[in-house]
Amino acid sequence: MAKELACRECRCVTTAKVCPVCKSTDLSPDWNGIVLVVKPTNSKISNTLGITKPGKYALKVT
Ligand SMILES: [Zn+2]
Repeated sequence: MAKELACRECRCVTTAKVCPVCKSTDLSPDWNGIVLVVKPTNSKISNTLGITKPGKYALKVT
């Protein structure tokens, strides 16, 4: 299984080398917690985290 990395810019979790959301290459293997966002406009947590696109996000990226 490929290691999942979290984007330091938008917290998106991905197995790719480039963030699929913001195209950043600043990805960290050190992250905690996972949030699945299906409808960012309806979700309280996505508002809190500043998420605008559906996807898998880390709660904490270090
Ligand atoms: Zn990103």
